Amino acid sequence: MYHLGGNVLNDEKGILFILSGPSGVGKGTVRKKIFEQATDLKYSISMTTRSKRPGEIDGVDYFYKTREEFEKLIEQNKLLEYAQYVNNYYGTPRDYVEDTLEAGHDVFLEIEVQGAMQVKESFPEGVFIFLFPPSLEELKNRITSRGTESNELVLNRLKEARKEIEMMDSYDYVVVNDHVDLAVAKIQSIIQSEHCKRERIEKQYKKILEDELT
Ligand code: 5GP
Repeated sequence: MYHLGGNVLNDEKGILFILSGPSGVGKGTVRKKIFEQATDLKYSISMTTRSKRPGEIDGVDYFYKTREEFEKLIEQNKLLEYAQYVNNYYGTPRDYVEDTLEAGHDVFLEIEVQGAMQVKESFPEGVFIFLFPPSLEELKNRITSRGTESNELVLNRLKEARKEIEMMDSYDYVVVNDHVDLAVAKIQSIIQSEHCKRERIEKQYKKILEDELT
């Protein structure tokens, strides 16, 4: 017997959400706020070769790896995607994402755009969300005022940001990050709406028709 509500129409597999967008747009802040509230959403912690910033914790913010360790992971096909970004590697552990989705949990990635496009090749059914800066001037301020990096790095980040915005065409949703709370609320509605998509729950309701209503 099926009941209304609950998990009756949930897909068996979790949904992969990818939050991406230009450097300095505030992806990290938005992601952290989402996870302060989310219940059944799993964050995939990335691997990186960049050094730890003050306050960051290994295994919480990133898994910090040497270049040699990272290149071994690439060779062993352990990464779902990876990118070289401003002279460092960043990548998503494949097993964690695939196993967690298989177990029925949604997975959330917060990654830069080259990596997001690689994910699109292996997970075209993923939900791709582009976080857009409130203004390009503001984006420039945020990148230049971080204060932890050299001028050359800042210039590289600005160049990357330009290229990244041009890649918006490949995304399903665009969320302007003018107010963090508003951007978070929009992303939460996207997550809810995706769970209501007919094609995601088709198998379940067809089964209900076969089992219960014949
Ligand atoms: P940061 O060094 O500021 O933590 O991150 C730099 C950029 O790398 C950000 O745009 C962040 O979203 C992105 N990033 C973090 N983890 C990954 C990952 O696993 N793969 C890719 N492709 N980008 C990532």
